[in-house]
Amino acid sequence: MKERILVIGNGMAGIRCVEEIVKLEPNAYDITVIGKERTPAYDRIQLSTVLQGNGTVDELLIKPLDWYDEQKVTLRTDEAVTEIDKDQRLVYTNKGGALPYDRLIIATGSNPFIIPFPGIDKKGVITFRDIDDCNAMIESAKTKRKAVVIGGGLLGLEAARGLLNLNMEVSVVHNTDALMDRQLDATASKMLKDELEQQGMTFLMEKETTHVTGDEHVSGLAFKDGEEIEADLVVMAVGIKPNIALASETGLETNRGIVVDDFMKTSHPGIYAVGECAEHRGIAYGLVAPLYEQAAVLAKSISGDESGPYEGSVVFTKLKVSGVDVFSAGLFQEEEGVKAIRIHDESEGIYKKIMIADQKIVGTVMFGDTSDSSRILSYMRSEMNVEKMKKVALLEPEEDGGDDLVASMPESEIVCGCNGVTKGCITKAIQDQGLRTVGEIKGCTNASRSCGGCQPLVSQILEHTLGDVFDASDQQEPICGCTSLSRNEIVEAIREKGIQTTKEVYHVLDFENKEGCSKCRPSLNYYLGMLFPEEYEDEAASRFVNERMHANIQNDGTFSVVPRMYGGVTTSDQLRKIAEVSDKYEIKMLKVTGGQRIDMLGAKKDDLPSIWADLDMPSGYAYGKALRTVKTCVGEQFCRFGTQDSIGLGVRLEKKFERLQTPHKVKMAVSACPRSCAESGFKDVGIIGVDGAWELYVGGNGGINVQGGHLLATVTTDEEVMKTTGAYLQYYRETANYLERTSAWVERVGIDHVKEVLSDEEEKNNLNNRIDIALRATRDPWKEALEDRTVRQQFETILQP
Ligand SMILES: Cc1cc2nc3c(=O)[nH]c(=O)nc-3n(C[C@H](O)[C@H](O)[C@H](O)COP(=O)(O)OP(=O)(O)OC[C@H]3O[C@@H](n4cnc5c(N)ncnc54)[C@H](O)[C@@H]3O)c2cc1C
Ligand code: SF4
Repeated sequence: MKERILVIGNGMAGIRCVEEIVKLEPNAYDITVIGKERTPAYDRIQLSTVLQGNGTVDELLIKPLDWYDEQKVTLRTDEAVTEIDKDQRLVYTNKGGALPYDRLIIATGSNPFIIPFPGIDKKGVITFRDIDDCNAMIESAKTKRKAVVIGGGLLGLEAARGLLNLNMEVSVVHNTDALMDRQLDATASKMLKDELEQQGMTFLMEKETTHVTGDEHVSGLAFKDGEEIEADLVVMAVGIKPNIALASETGLETNRGIVVDDFMKTSHPGIYAVGECAEHRGIAYGLVAPLYEQAAVLAKSISGDESGPYEGSVVFTKLKVSGVDVFSAGLFQEEEGVKAIRIHDESEGIYKKIMIADQKIVGTVMFGDTSDSSRILSYMRSEMNVEKMKKVALLEPEEDGGDDLVASMPESEIVCGCNGVTKGCITKAIQDQGLRTVGEIKGCTNASRSCGGCQPLVSQILEHTLGDVFDASDQQEPICGCTSLSRNEIVEAIREKGIQTTKEVYHVLDFENKEGCSKCRPSLNYYLGMLFPEEYEDEAASRFVNERMHANIQNDGTFSVVPRMYGGVTTSDQLRKIAEVSDKYEIKMLKVTGGQRIDMLGAKKDDLPSIWADLDMPSGYAYGKALRTVKTCVGEQFCRFGTQDSIGLGVRLEKKFERLQTPHKVKMAVSACPRSCAESGFKDVGIIGVDGAWELYVGGNGGINVQGGHLLATVTTDEEVMKTTGAYLQYYRETANYLERTSAWVERVGIDHVKEVLSDEEEKNNLNNRIDIALRATRDPWKEALEDRTVRQQFETILQP
């Protein structure tokens, strides 16, 4: 007779143990699984995704029913174990009868924590743990309007986002002053709150609920400070408690969870515990990644292999809300002996912090860009020594594209924590099934199917495994979490279907998040404007704050005003005007910039329109994804080395291309001889005079990633410079990703490719025709705000949030 294994709980841990056991020793045991829920094991973490309107509960089953038959596993659903007789090795269920076992696995998970304040048992108050809760929310949204979620943690916010998608008005009540305060520091928490408010959530912070109001059905919540809020539905999401009742009644050692050793054995021989109900070395985990590691150790232990103990897990959190990239792992608050390295880009909404103690990374928090999360997590898991590293480089993408990291990862390391997919499983699938894209890997192995946090690492594994066969252009990465469509697919669809607004894009192209996010909103606004320059109405709300304000916000909350000075040339009249305006509006500092103009720093927000009116100069677009400056050297007009009129050409270029919207900022320079005093070799477009000709350099960058420009063409006349520059800029506008600088774009598409495109005279003319149309449609934003009452009103509402 085969040894009998009985599993209590057909949740994510229970089924994973069974999977591991049958994988290791097929058909070796007589396995029975008893689950209280009606449905066979399903992917609980995807409930948030279903609630947000993506997929149905039927798609969540971890294994189809056939699988249980094939593996000869007896599945008993809708049945609860009520008692364990550990001496007789029997379990009793609510359906009667006793079931014998040789080994017992307890995988009873957790129960939602319910604060027992008065009125909690009223109709319309629910938790968020299982399929029934998810269905109850979907049903409720069909007839009710106001939802209140208690708890501003991961689960509460995912529930709140789902209810918003179901068209409910959603308020989140939280008892502290910061959301996700167990995973995020104050900065990330504030950024998260701002983003969710933009998506339509309302927050009641530092509120202590005293009771639920209403008769039979909930009508609202009352708070300690005397305030009340109306509610047709209340979702309590304040935490979980390991489900240990059965184990403690049986006399097993329990604490917060069922106490287990490094092989998941409880205090009684032959009984194991795994998943959220288990407590290992004092920790009861509330996430899935640990349970995959626990299940693998448990299965090996049953097979007699106790060579690799479970030593605990490094856990991470990734919020599954479309359009919000948040990642947190390990320590996130500063404390003694721990040093933090941070970058915070307010204009792009990006914040990253890593925590270092004893030369190891012990925690990280990321908001707005989580593309480095897998790499940092891997460093944390391997306890890599960072002593000799330039620490800030840890927050920058790896130069080798992550190849070293991938090569050093053991095959057994879990890459996708949500679905328990190892590096070995991914590489095998790539090799055996000829996979070529991350999308194919997702479909085949489930890696990156859930929170998507491991997508960059999956991509690196793909690149590493395929070697030369890897083709970046195949990759078609989605532009953000709101959609699975890539930039090219979106631009193509907008063009084909003649889509005219961002709203239409979200609906026609079936974005998961119909409001968009801080990543896709500005990108779509750019792509639509680029494709339909004459028809498209620019959406100010979709732009980054500096672009909305037409000025750069400074670290003290004031603004900087930079008027245009063509080619860096000014006059005494202009200088007098700048001086007068500066005195009148108490400008804190006048600074000559590297782009050869004057920056008026410290302007008050409310004074901006009056400053523009008094200056009566065009905007210098110092804040825009647009042409910034054309820097010039003095050239033949004054310099004894000058062979060309650099100022004349620079002014002509700036006058022609000013106000041009581009994927990222564009800087130009013209120098009249190879001494290149205007630093033309490091510009997006740099022009250098040589004997009787102009050399055009493109794709240069003098910023963080210094890059010398590539020679695009040598031409003899100013006319040809204008034409080549126009064609080049338009080709960049049409083919670059939004926020891709020309240096990265040229590197991606290749300078030879750009040369080839521009060598076709007809194509060059067409590109110039299209850029001329785009330029004709532009207007000076400062003038527009002053002259057009509606525009100014719109602008003023933005100024007074
Ligand atoms: C909405 C939601 C989103 C989540 N998102 C994430 C995420 O993004 N990332 C992450 O890592 N984790 C996430 N989690 C947590 C994750 O789902 C859990 O960590 C995981 O499901 C725990 O697995 P488990 O098997 O221990 O418990 P469960 O999956 O809860 O399974 C326990 C099962 O045992 C059954 N059971 C209990 N008592 C008995 C009994 N006496 N007899 C028979 N059956 C019994 C229960 O009915 C249940 O089906 C999320 C959870 C929820 C609810
Ligand atoms: S680049 Fe040549 S021409 Fe221009 S200022 Fe310098 S030395 Fe003179």
